[in-house]
Amino acid sequence: MKRYVLDDFKLDNESLKLGETIFHNANGYIGVRGCFEEGYKDGFDTVRGTYINGFYNFVPMPQAEKLCGLIEEKQTIVNVTDTQGIELYVCGERFSLFAGKVLSKKRWLDMEKGITCREITWQSPKGKTVEILIKRMCSFTCLPLFLIEYSVRAVDFSGDIQIKSTHTGEVMNYFNPNDPRVAGEACKHIFTESKEIIEDISVISSLTAKSALRAVTAVSHKLSKETSHTAEQSKDGVIFNFHTQIEQEETVVCHKYSVICDSVRYKDTKKEALRLMEETRQRKTGELYKEQEEYLSVFWQNCGVDILGEEELNEAIQYNMYQLVQSAGKEPHSNVAAKGLSGEGYEGHFFWDTEMYLQPFYILNAREIAGNLIRYRYTILDDAKENAKILGHKKGAAYPWRTIMGKECSGYFPSGSAQYHINGDIAYSIAAYYLATKDKALLEECGCEMLIETARLWMDIGNYQNGMFHINTVTGPDEYTCLVNNNYYTNVLAAYNLKWAYKSFELLKEEKREADVEKKTGITKEELSSFIKAAAAMYLPYDETLGINPQDDSFLQKSIWEVSTIREEEKPLLLHYHPMHLYRYQICKQADTVLAHFILEDEQDMETIRNSFAYYEKITTHDSSLSTCIFSIVAAKLGMLDKAYEYLGESAKLDLFNTHKNTADGIHTANMGGTYMAVVYGFGGLRIKVDGLHLEPRLPKAWQGLRFSFLYEDAQIEVNVTPEKCVITLLKGKQKELHVYGKKVLLKKSLTILKEDMK
Ligand code: BGC
Repeated sequence: MKRYVLDDFKLDNESLKLGETIFHNANGYIGVRGCFEEGYKDGFDTVRGTYINGFYNFVPMPQAEKLCGLIEEKQTIVNVTDTQGIELYVCGERFSLFAGKVLSKKRWLDMEKGITCREITWQSPKGKTVEILIKRMCSFTCLPLFLIEYSVRAVDFSGDIQIKSTHTGEVMNYFNPNDPRVAGEACKHIFTESKEIIEDISVISSLTAKSALRAVTAVSHKLSKETSHTAEQSKDGVIFNFHTQIEQEETVVCHKYSVICDSVRYKDTKKEALRLMEETRQRKTGELYKEQEEYLSVFWQNCGVDILGEEELNEAIQYNMYQLVQSAGKEPHSNVAAKGLSGEGYEGHFFWDTEMYLQPFYILNAREIAGNLIRYRYTILDDAKENAKILGHKKGAAYPWRTIMGKECSGYFPSGSAQYHINGDIAYSIAAYYLATKDKALLEECGCEMLIETARLWMDIGNYQNGMFHINTVTGPDEYTCLVNNNYYTNVLAAYNLKWAYKSFELLKEEKREADVEKKTGITKEELSSFIKAAAAMYLPYDETLGINPQDDSFLQKSIWEVSTIREEEKPLLLHYHPMHLYRYQICKQADTVLAHFILEDEQDMETIRNSFAYYEKITTHDSSLSTCIFSIVAAKLGMLDKAYEYLGESAKLDLFNTHKNTADGIHTANMGGTYMAVVYGFGGLRIKVDGLHLEPRLPKAWQGLRFSFLYEDAQIEVNVTPEKCVITLLKGKQKELHVYGKKVLLKKSLTILKEDMK
């Protein structure tokens, strides 16, 4: 059973805010934080939010120095209407976990049913006992629907109960001026345009302040018992009141339906919200739950990962995978925000996290999502071309470092726009999608064009020097080192991007499917050859003495700042040191060259990778959550299984144990994808390359076994490894030639590799 349970959850403010993230409900379109319907104690802080993927407001981002091309406006995710509010009165006494006696309490997430639950036994100050069970669901099959099922059972009394349910249009985004990772300024992004009560449905239409996007929410209820009820408008929205008599041992259930539609997807937003509400109300709640379970059963069938012998780790990994299906946009208007739909950290922006940390999971398990994430990048290709011009480039596309609707949102360009590697990351994910699916249709539809436009940018940004192609003044993934020449990660990926621009065009040409791309891009034979030439001449920094790839040209000239010397109170460094101070040291926020050694491992020999790993490990703080998972994968590749296992543990438990102390702002989706990669690429040894599928499963001491399945071309393959043997099974699809532990084998139905051959 896939469940994450918190028995007797804590009621201090920090734990509650954390719980809002951990138990949020989302489906890729909407996300609702797991706040208590009835609220907390006065004075408690809460991020009471409901979000729509890809729905934003424009906010000014004034620059103190008006230098040419600096961005002065950003987009931010918007907290839309609050439909979570339900207050319960038991014979006139208001239910609160901070009053009366809490006899028992428990919260859980059921990852097979796709619901969160809160169960409480409460005794009112006057001694009346109720059992309350609250189930919440964001539907995967009707994306605008958020459902709360609120059940009350009278344990030791009969009497009056009242349910007061609110629908609130007046909401604000959360802000914290002391933390650069969330919005720093108070801002009201959305205003109520109209509120109405149409029969038993309340409808609030809201408009964002600057981007002029509309969100319409409709709310209605169904009660299991005859009640007298009222619905009236308030200053903030609409209040519903339901009164009924409850008998001892009787249960009364209130279903609260919220339909949330936005003008990005729905042209006639209000009409659509009302139509969906009508449709939903006509259906039995049981059917909605059943559909949810069916959706998830397909999801889990495709992406099963099971670790034998480590219950807690297994649960954490499944929790992470569940968040990946909750967070991903299900159509090309949206993407996966750094915090999914669980909070406002990083203002709902989409980063390279998607391509390098999340796409591997979707490509192997949920291809439709993967395809749409690529299509999303295509919808913003024109903005990326515009961005290239703003940055002074004569050709090509420069994808924004962080964005929602396509325009750059990074205010601090040294660790923002200068991260040109995002172009290479997008290119890498297009190639990865193709290698795993062999789907030329997506290349034809948009992939090849994006590969060409991103490749063009490298040709514009780089230059030849002594016959080698150099890329200067960029920032690699490590944000503690900015604006450098020849960042190894960037260069190696740029070469890959250039090669794939050429290769994808050739792939289409083989089938005479290149005409459209040719027309749209005006690409010529000469330009394609220039890509190949630059890729072959790409300069990759290498240090003979250390036998490593330096992170960039000047990296090794700086003083070393060993991680072992950093005091606890200095962590994370970004909150305690001026950026320039950090830039002057060999100190890394996250995997950079080590990441390059994972994604393009064949560019260097094992010895260099081993030396680099040892070198960078001493100076990497892992202040970014995108780091330990990569160290885990490369440690596993190098045969350091104990180390790989430790790093995996850090990644897997990051949110559930709040180890970065900021999960209250939202989950860390990239790390969640990274955790999956650490299992499947690290311990599973999976790679998909031009020459096909590679597997090299290896177990850490603590595990009795590992099982995972994934999609490859037309097939679904399962790997089941124990210390004694490794069994690879073709669950569906045609036979495949694979590389297993370095040997070519044919997988017809099932293959067993015995211990002695598992190197
Ligand atoms: C990391 C970036 C990442 C961003 C969003 C930052 O802390 O350094 O690499 O893209 O977080 O997750």
